[in-house]
Amino acid sequence: MNQSNHINRNESLDYEIYLQALNSSNSGIIITDNAILDNPIIYCNKAFENITGYSHNEIIGHNCRFLQAQDRSQPQRQQLKEAIENGYECRVEIRNYKKDGTLFWNELFVSPVKNNAGEITHFIGVQNDISERKNAEIELIEEKASTEKKIVARTKELQDSEAFLSSIIQTVRESLLVLDSNYRVLSANKHFLSSFKVTEANTVGKILFELGNHQWDIEALKQLLTKILPTNNPVIDFEVSHDFPYIGRKVMLVNAYRVEFEGQFKDRILIAIEDITDQKEIEQRKDDFLSVASHELKTPLTSIKGLIQILQRVKPENSSEKFNTILDKIANQTDRLNLLINQLLDTSKIQSGHIELHKEPFEIDKLLNDAVSNFNYAGSNHQINLRGKTNAVILGDDLQITQVINNLLSNAIKYSPEDKVIDVQSDKVSNYVKVSVTDYGIGISHNDQAKIFDRFYRAQDIQQKFAGLGIGLYICQQIITAHDGTLWVESEEGRGATFNFTLPIMKIYDNEE
Ligand code: ADP
Repeated sequence: MNQSNHINRNESLDYEIYLQALNSSNSGIIITDNAILDNPIIYCNKAFENITGYSHNEIIGHNCRFLQAQDRSQPQRQQLKEAIENGYECRVEIRNYKKDGTLFWNELFVSPVKNNAGEITHFIGVQNDISERKNAEIELIEEKASTEKKIVARTKELQDSEAFLSSIIQTVRESLLVLDSNYRVLSANKHFLSSFKVTEANTVGKILFELGNHQWDIEALKQLLTKILPTNNPVIDFEVSHDFPYIGRKVMLVNAYRVEFEGQFKDRILIAIEDITDQKEIEQRKDDFLSVASHELKTPLTSIKGLIQILQRVKPENSSEKFNTILDKIANQTDRLNLLINQLLDTSKIQSGHIELHKEPFEIDKLLNDAVSNFNYAGSNHQINLRGKTNAVILGDDLQITQVINNLLSNAIKYSPEDKVIDVQSDKVSNYVKVSVTDYGIGISHNDQAKIFDRFYRAQDIQQKFAGLGIGLYICQQIITAHDGTLWVESEEGRGATFNFTLPIMKIYDNEE
């Protein structure tokens, strides 16, 4: 075997190995011959056939540009052309087309092969189908564009609705202020400016608490306002009574809410201010009238009551049955009138803050027992059952607590004309006594339940059927609150009602005592 034969055999072995290596690559690889006109492809591997869909025979002899089909205006072509002309490497991402016409994104790397004299003899092209990545990129770009479009549209909508809202704010007949999170006034509506006789320049941009002669600088209001933003607890019906500059002494009702617009408007406070000076004055006059009227009525009534008692004592022994019944009826009706007038007097006392409590320790079990026995004894048609034993001593005004029980029992009787049983239950609950008065009568609608403890409120549908002034429960609640307890109702319309109250226990006594 001579030397040259040995070399040839080795060379052809190397060639086979290189060929196999090229064919097993996933990247499409071609070699073009620069010495031949138009730089034709002289080699392509298997992957190139797979990527393009063309067979080896259809590829060899062509210039690479056949892969671009009619898509000729791509800027990457110019880049490729310059690289080939000047003999340097180049990497482009270019749109190419398979034999069946489908588009694929080709990541093409072109590199020149030079001989010993430095002349370019061949080009090697390596290609990868990057359609998936490219499509994802394109989708991303499209999505971004559409999101941007949506944002523009949404911003416009927000601006429109802000303009709409601000036109409403300007026209309402209530004073409105919008504050930022530092309580600086961002806007004040026309009604605010005209009511307080101030200018926009004196208001907008200023801190709320520094407006006018610091009329809003009230510690309690400040504390409520500071809670609005972090907790979203609104300020509801806060009364401010103040000598305002230019408009004098006024009572204002303040309501404040956290306002959140989507997007750029966040954490704003809307304050609505209502002038209730006139309303307050009318209420005051009504209260004064009630107080004077009930005092005036009380005086003659007391002497009528005294005179009836004299009549009852001095009536002749042989007086007729009719005479006796009429006298008893007069006495009963006078007692009723007396009770109503006393309730009116109590209300005006409570209103003017003159509720008087004479607190002494008393046993609640005994008080309940006496009150219930009195009712059962007074010839009521209802059967009142008393259950429970607490052994508790309460520090309080026993007359007032008796008044509460009497009120609740009279209501229970009055509002359950068809059902004759009333249950009174007392329990020791933690440090409190809980007393419940249950009837099985007409019940109270959910809507009315929130209002029956207000002065003069009576459920709408009972006004004609049952007599009353609508102040009994108001007085009860004031008395229980003054004893540090609570009074509440549980009821379903048509299914009776349970009025519960609690009172703090002073001490527990032994049964044996
Ligand atoms: P009055 O009974 O004089 O109307 P109250 O203040 O005692 O006034 O009660 C207020 C209202 O609450 C009543 O008008 C009635 O609508 C309702 N109410 C009170 N107690 C009961 C009850 N036990 N059952 C149903 N409704 C009741």
